[in-house]
Amino acid sequence: MDFGLDTEQCRIRSQIIDFAKEQLGHDVAEDDRAGRFSRKDWQKCADFGVLGWPVPAEFGGSGYSPLTTMIALEALGYGCCDNGLVFAVNNHLWGCVIYLLNHGTEDQKNRFLGPLCEGRLIGAHALSEPNTGSDVLSLETTAVRDGDDYVLNGTKWFISNGPVADLLVVFAKTGVAGRGQDQFSTFLVPCDLPGVAKTREFEKMGLRTTEMGAVEFTECRVPVANLLGVEGAGYPIFTSTIEWERAFMFANQVGAMERLLDTSIEHVMSRRQFGRRLGAFQAVAHKVADMKIRLELSRLILYRVGWLKTEGRMSLLDSTIAKIFVSESLVQTAMAAVEVHGARGYVSDAGIERELRDALGGPIYAGSSAVQRGILAELLGLDGGLSG
Ligand SMILES: Cc1cc2nc3c(=O)[nH]c(=O)nc-3n(C[C@H](O)[C@H](O)[C@H](O)COP(=O)(O)OP(=O)(O)OC[C@H]3O[C@@H](n4cnc5c(N)ncnc54)[C@H](O)[C@@H]3O)c2cc1C
Repeated sequence: MDFGLDTEQCRIRSQIIDFAKEQLGHDVAEDDRAGRFSRKDWQKCADFGVLGWPVPAEFGGSGYSPLTTMIALEALGYGCCDNGLVFAVNNHLWGCVIYLLNHGTEDQKNRFLGPLCEGRLIGAHALSEPNTGSDVLSLETTAVRDGDDYVLNGTKWFISNGPVADLLVVFAKTGVAGRGQDQFSTFLVPCDLPGVAKTREFEKMGLRTTEMGAVEFTECRVPVANLLGVEGAGYPIFTSTIEWERAFMFANQVGAMERLLDTSIEHVMSRRQFGRRLGAFQAVAHKVADMKIRLELSRLILYRVGWLKTEGRMSLLDSTIAKIFVSESLVQTAMAAVEVHGARGYVSDAGIERELRDALGGPIYAGSSAVQRGILAELLGLDGGLSG
């Protein structure tokens, strides 16, 4: 096994870190306070190619392999201190673009991928509803076939990028037989269609520079040409694509962990108390050592998923482990960073408290830690899986 990056991956990594440090996140403190998405930085990401990293060149992207895409996202997470901006990019890529790449027709790819790569369209993923969270089969939004259209009715909640989105990947019930796995379908829904309304925005604790909202569909006619895959294939489309989301969406968190580690080392090596550097106290040094352990193990599990996907293989087990381990590790590392910085970590000046607020959503979105552990239990053949 070769764990090293090749020359091209090293070049890409260092270019991205330079770009992100120089160009992104300069207004993050104010944007975070205002709960404001930075269109300016979004466009810089688009111009740098970020929004098309995994997209083949023929559709306007960079054509990076899955492993190189993962390394690129890790570098973006390291260089860009605006975690919300990177989360917006992640929702666009892993909540929308990847669905088109893996399940779109040539016509759908030709219509949408170019503008998505260029940042002219912002993508979002619309699955959750007021009564549908972890239990995705309990969807209530309906899509009824009528001639060349499906007519959508229902409400989607907690949609990241929702207030600024142009294109939604929407899951809706097309069947009438309750909650079976063949009862729902996936649609590409442009937000300018009649019957699509962005009805509210959610104020939230962290990742405040990604805007989150609700979307309502009222007699919204979506052309059959916007159905992803075939009618009734929503669940297999969701489960095969979620393997990507659960790992790739967390690659930037490895970068964030490294950034927090660097900042913490710098601090404990310079701040002195009791006549010694903080890092000379074993209790402090061990916290920093644990940050390094979490960073390296998170990187290993993510690169393994990147490698599996580059080989065209399934990664359900590894993606599930990655989702749990990386998201929980970032929370622990951000917490430790606050602790070793003392009051300097707690007040807003250094941005460390923002890192902790940003980290706390990770174990909830893309399937909570408890749900991931339930999936793992089922994969291991245990009874204590999702259905209890
Ligand atoms: C920052 C953020 C961004 C998000 N972005 C999007 C988005 O873009 N699009 C979208 O569709 N949704 C989005 N969501 C919603 C997200 O997908 C849901 O929050 C998630 O699926 C959990 O659903 P819920 O919040 O309704 O919790 P619930 O399902 O109500 O669960 C509440 C608690 O019960 C636990 N629980 C539930 N079922 C089980 C079980 N079987 N076994 C053990 N424990 C269980 C959960 O782990 C959780 O702790 C986002 C959420 C957050 C926090």
